[in-house]
Amino acid sequence: MQISANFDSGNIEVIDASNPQRVLLAMRPDLASHHFQWFHFKVEGLVPGQRYGFSLTNAGQSAYNQAWDGYHAAASYDQRNWFRVPSRFDDGALDFSLEPCEAQVWFAYFEPYSRARHDWLIEQALSKAGAELFASGQSIEGRAIQLLRVSRNPAAPRKIWIIAQQHPGEHMAEWFMEGLIERLQQRGDAELDALLARAELYLVPNMNPDGAVRGHLRTNAAGQDLNRAWQSANAAQSPEVLFVQQQMRQVGVDLFLDIHGDEEIPHVFSAGCEGNPGYSPRLERLEAEFRSRLVALGAEFQTTYGYPRSGPGQANLTLACNAVGQEFDCLSFTLEMPFKDHDDNPNPLTAWDGRRSMRLGKDVLSVVAAMVEGLR
Ligand SMILES: [Zn+2]
Repeated sequence: MQISANFDSGNIEVIDASNPQRVLLAMRPDLASHHFQWFHFKVEGLVPGQRYGFSLTNAGQSAYNQAWDGYHAAASYDQRNWFRVPSRFDDGALDFSLEPCEAQVWFAYFEPYSRARHDWLIEQALSKAGAELFASGQSIEGRAIQLLRVSRNPAAPRKIWIIAQQHPGEHMAEWFMEGLIERLQQRGDAELDALLARAELYLVPNMNPDGAVRGHLRTNAAGQDLNRAWQSANAAQSPEVLFVQQQMRQVGVDLFLDIHGDEEIPHVFSAGCEGNPGYSPRLERLEAEFRSRLVALGAEFQTTYGYPRSGPGQANLTLACNAVGQEFDCLSFTLEMPFKDHDDNPNPLTAWDGRRSMRLGKDVLSVVAAMVEGLR
């Protein structure tokens, strides 16, 4: 049996592979950071029908060590179709096993969104979705951070911003963007037509390509958590945030969505700006309308479970959602999808996955379309 992780978003260290019933593994921390939780590796040379067991021995020391209960590892034979394998968190380790039906299998914390697929997505957006490359930033390691603009009406007054995967291990965020961009390719979509008559879309499908390629959970190549850098963005530590902030200040923002994944909570949910100094009854009404429209649409989303609400004036303004909502006095959300499942509508075979993330991306456009008139 050979185990490898030397590829895009790969992350695993082999401690002891001498017992195929219990291969001992460890997740590697992000570069210049203590965070880890993401894993992605390939196992080759398997005998189909034989049982193999794997143990992530440092799961108990991971960034969200309470997140493993109720979590099941993702697996694939072809890197296209992903399924979950029963997993158990016990004595500080995450254990899972499989009787493979192929000689090779990939395991990951979540269905990975590769850089190759990212390049394809940008190409689709430009050639089929009517997007243009409005600007391009650079990560610390020189990877492109594409800012796409979809503008069908140059006089459209509203600017809608949606960014994804600041936290590089949260691959569901770029699946969400793929769904959204796929819908933009449709013609004869009345909701979309109404939206784009009134608004321009500004989309950043991947904010943290270095972290994603490196197999990080949380940070960029400088060990910086980008979603804690929105009061201190600078070229050395967080050029990714600096680039987007500069573009926002030139363009303006009337609605902001920051797309994430949550390790612990088995539901799709949102976090708003209730703790911002500038929070107002207007913003409170807009937040409530966004949430109730998404629920009413039948989207996989709910409002019962989520983060504790911030007290008045207690918001952490280093987060993108709060910083942008405060600076632009606009509706602003962090949208969280689970690494586990959306327990309101569980699917034991796949749990939450790329396909469901894509569907949510499409649905969110309906809500934005319905609200565009009343954003200001
Ligand atoms: Zn996140």
